[in-house]
Amino acid sequence: MGRLPEECERPAQEIARHLSQIQTLREVMMAAASTLDFNQVLKETCRVLQARMQLEYLGFAMMDAEGRLTPYAAQVGYSRRLEQVQLPLDGSVCGRVYQSGEPVIIEDVREEPCYFGLEPEVRSELAVPIRIRGQVVGVLNLESRRVGGFNEEDLAFYSAIAGQLGIALENACLYEEVAEQADDLQAALTRLQELDRFKTRFMQNVSHELRSPLALILGYADYLFEDQSRSMPSYLRELLGLIQEQATTLSQLVEDLTLTWQTETQPIKLQPVAFHDVVQSSVLRFRISAEGKGLSLESSIDKDMLPVRGTPECLRSVVDNLLSNAIKFTPSEGRVLVRLLGGGDNLVLQVSDTGIGIAPEHHKRIFDRFYQVAGSGSRHHRGMGLGLALVHEIVEACDGSISVESELGRGSTFTVRLPTWSLDAVRNGDSAPHARSLRTHEPPRPVPVCSQAPASSTALT
Ligand code: ADP
Repeated sequence: MGRLPEECERPAQEIARHLSQIQTLREVMMAAASTLDFNQVLKETCRVLQARMQLEYLGFAMMDAEGRLTPYAAQVGYSRRLEQVQLPLDGSVCGRVYQSGEPVIIEDVREEPCYFGLEPEVRSELAVPIRIRGQVVGVLNLESRRVGGFNEEDLAFYSAIAGQLGIALENACLYEEVAEQADDLQAALTRLQELDRFKTRFMQNVSHELRSPLALILGYADYLFEDQSRSMPSYLRELLGLIQEQATTLSQLVEDLTLTWQTETQPIKLQPVAFHDVVQSSVLRFRISAEGKGLSLESSIDKDMLPVRGTPECLRSVVDNLLSNAIKFTPSEGRVLVRLLGGGDNLVLQVSDTGIGIAPEHHKRIFDRFYQVAGSGSRHHRGMGLGLALVHEIVEACDGSISVESELGRGSTFTVRLPTWSLDAVRNGDSAPHARSLRTHEPPRPVPVCSQAPASSTALT
């Protein structure tokens, strides 16, 4: 390569210097982007600048939480560890730059009254502020053994470097904040899990302790009602009926609580269950309370149906909850109809009533735990909002589905579909899931017991 003409040499050198600066800036940017550890960013910056820029002294001072301007460990050229030094805000060039936010070049430090000397040979200094979102948080500082070692071009270049460091520092701070929040969230989650375990233990204990005395009260009340009540004066019979009714409600709540924690903690062990027997005996059990409220309770239950997958206890809870709700939310003179239809691969249970109905916006949420429709008067009906959630969980565990069709003031129909357990499977003791494809099976239309079918419906699987 030939020599450049003399007049081109200076511009060519300048271009080469600018290129080298751009390259250095790019490397600092890459170092800043490669880690979220700010100490590491400073170390990398030192390494890049030292390799490319013929530095004599380089250091960084950052404001700490106690309001002290303290140098960082990353440094070039100094004979002592800078992080042990504390720079006076009013008696150092770095302090001045930190406070004013303006970069400075000190041509000769011997003429600078606020110069804070660390190395006796230093003659000139350049200091530029490091900012996060416009606010000064630290200072990048260079020193030279030459008088007038820095010019405006150096100032522009190191200001650009300080800009990159500000971005890296901001990222590191954001990362620290996010990491702290993640720690807080983890702690909150652990606490929630503890509370959840406590709640489950509490539910277990309460339901266990209440079960036996309630069964005793109910047993005696039933015995007195059936065997002795005819010889009682009417006010005593009424009181006895009240005890029986309240004890039944309480024992259903306890059953729901027990089953709720059981389904949470232990998977249901599925077995073939004669569902029509379960439905039949629920209807018998609820007949007295329906009649006592002046409701007609009708049923249409197909016989000779295949068993379904479930447990007698869980499936009884499904029917009891649907039936007790139908009775609870239907005013006197109303009708409740229970239908059980068999049809090939699945059985369909429908519990319909002519009661107060449910507005469409509540159709999905009534299957959430503890959800009760505000203003439906459900507060003066007894309940905890657990029944339908439990029904939904049990039906799902049995590979079935539940849907509701209801309209405010026009009654409700709850439809439960449960897959049957084939006779072969029953004979072979096979516990493999049967007829999962039933979810796509078209259900029979609900038979409304009110004069017009409710318009709005929601299905849950
Ligand atoms: P609970 O009956 O204990 O309040 P459920 O989970 O069984 O709880 O029912 C949730 C809510 O759904 C009830 O509070 C009531 O508002 C509404 N609901 C359930 N079944 C019926 C029904 N047959 N008719 C009208 N509203 C009902």
